[in-house]
Amino acid sequence: MSSITIQNLTKHYGRTVALSDMTLSIEDREFLVMVGPTGAGKTTTLRCIAGLTKPDKGAVLYDGEDMTDISPAVRDVAFVFQNYALYPRKTVFENIAFPLRARKYTASQREQAIMDVARMLRIDHLMDRRPAQLSGGEQQRVALGRAMVRRPRAFLMDEPLTNLDFQLRAEMRMELKRIQQELNRTFFYVTNDQVEAMAMGDRVAVLNQGVLQQVGPPQEVYEKPANLFVAGFIGSVRMNFLECAYNTDHGTLVSTNNHWSLKVPEHLRAAAQSAHDIGQLTLGIRPEDLRLSPQNGPGDLEGAVYVVEPLGDRNVYDIQVGSKLVKAKTPATFLLDAGAPVSLLLNMDRTHLFDAVTGMALT
Ligand code: ADP
Repeated sequence: MSSITIQNLTKHYGRTVALSDMTLSIEDREFLVMVGPTGAGKTTTLRCIAGLTKPDKGAVLYDGEDMTDISPAVRDVAFVFQNYALYPRKTVFENIAFPLRARKYTASQREQAIMDVARMLRIDHLMDRRPAQLSGGEQQRVALGRAMVRRPRAFLMDEPLTNLDFQLRAEMRMELKRIQQELNRTFFYVTNDQVEAMAMGDRVAVLNQGVLQQVGPPQEVYEKPANLFVAGFIGSVRMNFLECAYNTDHGTLVSTNNHWSLKVPEHLRAAAQSAHDIGQLTLGIRPEDLRLSPQNGPGDLEGAVYVVEPLGDRNVYDIQVGSKLVKAKTPATFLLDAGAPVSLLLNMDRTHLFDAVTGMALT
C-alpha cells in the first residue's frame, strides 16, 4: 500500500507563491501526472512529497501517516529526474546495483534483483557498458533501473523524458506506462507537456501559479475543463475562445465586436444566465468541433483562410473571423488557398461556455 495525500500545502519563496493551499490525493498504485507551465509549482510539490523541501504550511501523508518530520532517506520513495546523473566510470550493472550497497543481500539475491529490473527495462544486453557507450534513451532506462531496484513504495518523476528526442519520448511514454503496470507501484509524474499527461496519467492534475486547477481522468479534463486555463492548456491544438454576450430577448450569443450572432440551444441558455455578467462570456470550441466549408456552405460564422498547416493525416486551418483567428481541424483532403472565403459550422453540443469575469466553466 502506498497512497500519498497532500493536505493544504503552501510554500512561499520570498514574495513568490510556489504553492497555495494544495490538497490532492494520489491513490495507491495510481499513475498521477501533474502538468502545468514552467514555474507552476510542480517541482516544489514533488520536493515536498519527497521531503527535500519543507512546506510553510500543510502536511504530506503516506498511507495516512504524517511524514512532515520524517527525513527523505527513510521515506522509501525513488526519484527520476531529467538529468540522469549516472556514474560515468561504473558499468550499467554497477550503476543499477549502487542503491543496494547498504542492503543485506546475498550476491545471488543482488544479481537477481538487478537482472529482473534490467529485463523489465529491456537493457539486460547492455550490462557491461559504461554510460558514455549508451544512447540517451538507454541512459534514461539505466536511471530508471537504479530507481526501481530497491522496489520503493512510490516513484517520483520530474520531467524524466525532457532530454530525449521526439520519437524516443513517444516510445518511452508507453514504456513507462507498461513498467508502472508491471511494477504495480504508485507513480507521481511531473511534466509541462500536456501530451505526456494525457497519454500516461490514470488521472491528470493541472497546476497553474501554485494553484491546483482540476484533477481528473485525461478524457474528463479534456471534455469538461473546469476553467479557461485548463481549457487552453490541455489539447494539442488550442481551444478557440470567442468573447461574447448573451442576449436574453433573442436567446443568442453575440460576439463582442458584433461580428456574429449564434442561436444557442436550451442547455446553454441556463448556463449563460448563471454568469456574473451575461455581457462578459467566453464561448470555447475545440478545432475538431468546427466544420469548414467553402463560402456559402452551411455556417454559423464567416471568415477567410489565413494560413493552413498540413500535418499529413489532417490539416489545421487558421481562419480570420473579424479580428480573430479561429483554428479548425479538417481532413487532409480539404484544401483551400490562403484568402479563400470560408464558412464555419459549430457543433453546439460540444461548445463550452465560460464566465469571462471568473474564468470558470458554466457548462
Ligand atoms: P515548476 O516545476 O512548475 O516549473 P517550481 O516548483 O520549480 O515550478 O517553481 C515554482 C515557483 O517557485 C517559481 O516561480 C520558481 O521561480 C519559484 N522557486 C522554486 N524554487 C525556488 C527557490 N529555491 N528559491 C526561490 N524561488 C524558487
